[in-house]
Amino acid sequence: MNKTYLTMDVGGTNVNAGLVDGEGRILARRHFPTRTGRSQHDLTIDMVANLKELASEAPAGASPLGLAVGLPGWINYEEGVLVEAPNMPGWVNVPVVKIFSEALNMPVRLENDSNMYALGEWSRGAGRGLHNLLVITLGTGVGGGLILNDELWYGSFSSAVEIGHIPIEPENGAICGCGRRGCLETVASATGMSRLGREWLAAGRPTIYTGSPEDLNTKVLHDLALEGDQMALAVFRRAGEALGMILTGIINLLGLEGIVIGGGAARAMDFIEPRLWEILSNHVVVTRPERIKLLRCQLDEDAPLAGGAVLAGRL
Ligand SMILES: [Zn+2]
Repeated sequence: MNKTYLTMDVGGTNVNAGLVDGEGRILARRHFPTRTGRSQHDLTIDMVANLKELASEAPAGASPLGLAVGLPGWINYEEGVLVEAPNMPGWVNVPVVKIFSEALNMPVRLENDSNMYALGEWSRGAGRGLHNLLVITLGTGVGGGLILNDELWYGSFSSAVEIGHIPIEPENGAICGCGRRGCLETVASATGMSRLGREWLAAGRPTIYTGSPEDLNTKVLHDLALEGDQMALAVFRRAGEALGMILTGIINLLGLEGIVIGGGAARAMDFIEPRLWEILSNHVVVTRPERIKLLRCQLDEDAPLAGGAVLAGRL
């Protein structure tokens, strides 16, 4: 009988939970809103109820053996505590492992959501078969998970791979969500690209866009780019350049064989990639640049669930 596990990815907007088998295949799933405004306690009750339902759907004789929980925040791994989650008000010093292991009577692993996403793409997605790769997501921010020698890299502070907060314009850049100036995600996240577009509009530069600045997002920009719009093309070129510089630095440092790119703004990669590749191919020195695999994510929303299967399988 195949083993099963529970896996749950908690985001600022939605929760994805699944019953998965040992190969990371999703046998059943639940999708429900995080409902910002509800207390951490109420939301936890909701999560437990959904997870119990999922557990009851396991095949006969294959009850889930463990749970992996991904959360977008800083984690104290030794104690299984979510220290803080910037996009989830009220989630401060939450003993996640204790709460869920007591409620579900099974071992629980708590993980950062970007790490779980990276593990998923590495184990079952675009990064299968690669031993050293970086997985990044272009969303509200720029998230990242790093696999070195087939293991997640945590660094000395258990908080490594904050790629979105590598400074690219520390003097004159825009203020980042972290409060600092000129981080990568101020130009290369979905939010950052929209901001660049609004900057372009405010400067009165040429564009065929006639909507309001607030309605500008990466989907709109992508549609505009397909029509050859100067603003959209400039925004994606700038994002590609910033990503190209940072990724080249990381590849030259670590000798990575692959980069997987996912997240909402990955749809614009056809316009971001040319400038990114131009920089990579001119500046990667650790191998022939054509040996570097620049890949789109394959599992996307399901990646954290597949990553959770890997973690729960080790419990
Ligand atoms: Zn920042």
